[in-house]
Amino acid sequence: MSQTPSSSTLSSAEAMALENEHGAHNYHPLPVVLDRGEGVYVWDCEGKKYFDFLSAYSAVNQGHCHPRIVEAMVDQTRKLTLTSRAFYNSVLGEYERYVTQYFGYDKVLPMNTGAEAVETAIKLARKWGYDVKGVPADQAVIVVCDGNFHGRTTTIVSFSTDGDATGGFGPFTPGFKIIPYNDLGALKGALADPNVVGFLVEPIQGEAGVFTPADEFMSGARALCSEKGVLLMADEVQTGIARTGSLLASEPGFISGGSWDGLDKPDLLILGKALSGGAYPVSAVLADNAVMDVLHPGQHGSTFGGNPVAAQVAIAALDVVNDEDLCKNAAQLGKRFRAAMQDLVAENSLITKVRGRGLLNAILINDKPDSSTAWDLCVALKENGLLAKPTHGNIIRFAPPLVITEAQIDECTSIIRSTVIDFTK
Ligand SMILES: *Cc1c(COP(=O)(O)O)cnc(C)c1O
Repeated sequence: MSQTPSSSTLSSAEAMALENEHGAHNYHPLPVVLDRGEGVYVWDCEGKKYFDFLSAYSAVNQGHCHPRIVEAMVDQTRKLTLTSRAFYNSVLGEYERYVTQYFGYDKVLPMNTGAEAVETAIKLARKWGYDVKGVPADQAVIVVCDGNFHGRTTTIVSFSTDGDATGGFGPFTPGFKIIPYNDLGALKGALADPNVVGFLVEPIQGEAGVFTPADEFMSGARALCSEKGVLLMADEVQTGIARTGSLLASEPGFISGGSWDGLDKPDLLILGKALSGGAYPVSAVLADNAVMDVLHPGQHGSTFGGNPVAAQVAIAALDVVNDEDLCKNAAQLGKRFRAAMQDLVAENSLITKVRGRGLLNAILINDKPDSSTAWDLCVALKENGLLAKPTHGNIIRFAPPLVITEAQIDECTSIIRSTVIDFTK
């Protein structure tokens, strides 16, 4: 990789002023302007280097600007970028075979963003409910969880329990029932309704603050869904693709190219984010024929979904996960990271808890949920060269690229430690 110095012609202050004046204010970014990235590092306009401990919400699992992914993207971009699905393209079929074998499903439906993949899964579950399960027209129900995050479209926010996501955006799409997360008893009760077609769930709730359920939650949900003839719809947009120390969080034992032990496999697997290593918007829904074959031409689609650049980028991104053993690295370094944070919890009253799996972790701050403590701590971490962002009240998520090394993790835990200690002085 070339080690070019910062190429930004703008200062960070100028870049922030431009966004502030000309862009919609639908985000509240930490005051840092990133200009370049490589592996676990990003640099701001002034050339200051940071560890990225957000990884674009786990899209950049393979590290910033991974040379193999960039090369695949550039090569394909020079050759053919977009055909639409009105015609076949010479890369899509190869990618479809690759990704279905990689995750152990019959078929894939390619989309672009995570929210689009969730929307696709919702449409598939409803269509399956009417065509296969025999639910009366327009009566299908999808069960979802309190605290969920599945994206930002109108239908998806219809079943959000976050007031910021819903306030002012009604009327909402009907057909969803909300139950508490991590509550198999509530799920069992909800599934008693014969019109339920699917259970849409995150194996770990990332946006809700890395809320990690009991070990038996997903397998219990799988068993209940099978018993009632309901599709288990796993939203692994954030948890999937090695982030939690296994290829998928819904089946910790599953490895790429392996086979599912029938019972544990979700009926619909929803992927996005790291499916491209952050290079390009690529998302997908995977399912077996019994579900995927309910869709016929004209019933669903996307102009960009399945384009040849996306296909090449996804193949390269998934190759990197295997070739660089990212599952194992995330599992091992995740343990090491939580152990270091646990020590900090024990000796400091500002941090009350660490939780997570693999390299998807969060610390809980000992202050009111609406206080600015987590934000202020993230600003202090930024000053010390580590970028993280609060999520939902006083929780800070830590999710570095999975290519991070043991020495780098140790450097980062000492940055976090000294920042927390200085903060409480
Ligand atoms: C990020 C995310 C989405 C939405 O993905 P976008 O690409 O932002 O539309 C959906 N589900 C989960 C669990 C996510 O973390």
